[in-house]
Amino acid sequence: MGWVDLHLHTTASDGVLSPSEIVQYAKGKGLKAIAITDHDTIDGNAEALDEGAKSGLEVISGVEISAQFDLGSMHILGFFIDIGNTALKERLSLLQETRAQRNPKMVEKLRELGVELSYDEILHASGGGQVGRPHFAQVLLRKGYVNTVQEAFDRYLGKGAPAYVNKFRFEPEETMELIREAGGIPVLAHPFTLHIPSPHQLDALLGELVPLGLMGIEVFYPEHTKDQISLYKGLAQKHDLLVTGGSDYHGIEANKVEIGIRSRGMKLSYSMVEAMKEALDLNS
Ligand SMILES: [Zn+2]
Ligand SMILES: [Zn+2]
Repeated sequence: MGWVDLHLHTTASDGVLSPSEIVQYAKGKGLKAIAITDHDTIDGNAEALDEGAKSGLEVISGVEISAQFDLGSMHILGFFIDIGNTALKERLSLLQETRAQRNPKMVEKLRELGVELSYDEILHASGGGQVGRPHFAQVLLRKGYVNTVQEAFDRYLGKGAPAYVNKFRFEPEETMELIREAGGIPVLAHPFTLHIPSPHQLDALLGELVPLGLMGIEVFYPEHTKDQISLYKGLAQKHDLLVTGGSDYHGIEANKVEIGIRSRGMKLSYSMVEAMKEALDLNS
């Protein structure tokens, strides 16, 4: 039936391979279909779709949007989105703009706290990719303001610490609405990062998200344990949700994640794609 990977990042967000390169790479690994799910942007899709059409690999348009959630991180995947959808494009570019303003603001706050550093140093630490707090921590560590990365987060960069600047995010409801209005399927990504303490509470959260538009849950993910997988599978069944899976491959070899592998060498079946297509037909 074929193997797939429904969670991949390219240079359009924080991945290492360009959209064309990732299509070639997946093709070389013998995959039948992939989805491009860059953070808060759909910019890599057009190139990947093009390359997929040329090389005979099915490419599913997608996105991964970070939604507002207090406990942990809530990422929502969108599959089969119309990449020409204006509302989605506009809302995502707003996220990009606010993200670009966040890092200089954190530099400003650190300077007010007596830390001498420049935004250039942070950019340099990021090596030209998307800039994030780990790069701030690196610079603080190198300059001797802290002794560990953990200390950098505790004293300066963590949520609630004095140099922290809130990331602007959409509420889960708006995120899922944007995806559905662009013809897509909203799927809750890697549920373990929500940091929800009990299965019962996750069950309750799904009970809230489904009426708001949630259609699927990412059951297969390299970091999910056996127990988590069976929990998520059961919840998918209970809430009548589609099941998806992916590697979250960023092209960074050190992460030891390989494209198309859900965990311990196990592959991801194309049947997940067929189920999504069926769901879309039922919707239209
Ligand atoms: Zn994610
Ligand atoms: Zn991801």
